[in-house]
Amino acid sequence: MAQKRDYYEVLGVQKNATDEELKKAYRKLAKKYHPDANPDDKEGAEAKFKEVNEAYETLSDKQKRQMYDQFGFDGPQFGGGQGGGYYSYGSGFDGFGGFTDFNDLGDLGDIFSSFFGGGSSRTRSNSNSPRKGADLKVNLDITFEEAYLGVEKEISINRNEVCKSCNGTGAKAGTTPVTCGTCNGQGKVKQVVTTPFGQMSTQKVCSTCGGTGKVIKEPCIDCKGKGKVRKSVKIKVKIPEGIDEGQTIVLKGEGEPGTNNGPKGDLYIVIHIRRHNIYSRQGDHVFCEVPITFTGATLGTEIEIPMVDGSKEKYRIPEGTQTGTKFTIKNKGFKSVNGNWRGDFVFMVTVQVPKKLTHEQRELLVELAKTMNEQPPIKKKGIFG
Ligand SMILES: [Zn+2]
Ligand SMILES: [Zn+2]
Repeated sequence: MAQKRDYYEVLGVQKNATDEELKKAYRKLAKKYHPDANPDDKEGAEAKFKEVNEAYETLSDKQKRQMYDQFGFDGPQFGGGQGGGYYSYGSGFDGFGGFTDFNDLGDLGDIFSSFFGGGSSRTRSNSNSPRKGADLKVNLDITFEEAYLGVEKEISINRNEVCKSCNGTGAKAGTTPVTCGTCNGQGKVKQVVTTPFGQMSTQKVCSTCGGTGKVIKEPCIDCKGKGKVRKSVKIKVKIPEGIDEGQTIVLKGEGEPGTNNGPKGDLYIVIHIRRHNIYSRQGDHVFCEVPITFTGATLGTEIEIPMVDGSKEKYRIPEGTQTGTKFTIKNKGFKSVNGNWRGDFVFMVTVQVPKKLTHEQRELLVELAKTMNEQPPIKKKGIFG
């Protein structure tokens, strides 16, 4: 902070200068040091310009001026002279960008930011610079089993491809784009704007060539001068086992082509899993209901459970199994896409009550029922208990 010049000295005014005098001095100096007016020493002018702006920014604000008068650069608004400081010029952004306080000077802020490249990406980005192509998103439906086992799919998408006839230049075969006459290939044109300091020049994107600096005299027939053609392309995608509803696979560089040799965008494939009429999923676990006979539930039985991969798993149901009881077969669920483990296969038994009985079965059941009536109910706190 020691090398900082006194703000009043910078603006060339007295300590008791009025707001009007400050503004007048500022206008004069801003005009003088505007880098546009100093083509031979742009850098030097820019440094002066910043100094002038900084001085005016402080002195034109009543509160800041009062603090400055009292404490100078040791004031709290400058971080107590510890360095760093209140202003962030040159720290992290390569231009001004902080000119929103100059309300009473009209659209000066716009002029400065367009001159220095602002600090906003909108004004800084050059339409000639390479830009990444747009990302594309598609939805893909797969079956429950495909999600379980993993699958390779071929999908069709519509996207722009570089036109082969013109190699993306947009010019008819045998011709090349020519340099734009309006901007001489710069992609930008100077524009004179009337400001409170008089006339100043600023730059804007050339409307003749749209900022590319080139003009196509004879457009390519296949792409009508766009350099790109819309195409339906088939893309193979490997879907890992265990993928879940809504998860996305990203294929780098399978999106729209970039501009000015920028990289291609990416393709996002959002996975949707169709409902299964037997199985459902919760995390990496598989759920299903398995019907068993009431005699099997009563006496115990061995059943075969159909697994998602098509195999069968034998399972011993113990005697006295109630409907709604859940059993777990470990590590037979979905493989985790995030790691090397598997979920479980959980099934719930439902005990089936026979609707039709043969004469003989009925007789047997009646005999059974007589003996059952002598037994206490299974549930101790049933409605009879
Ligand atoms: Zn073409
Ligand atoms: Zn042009």
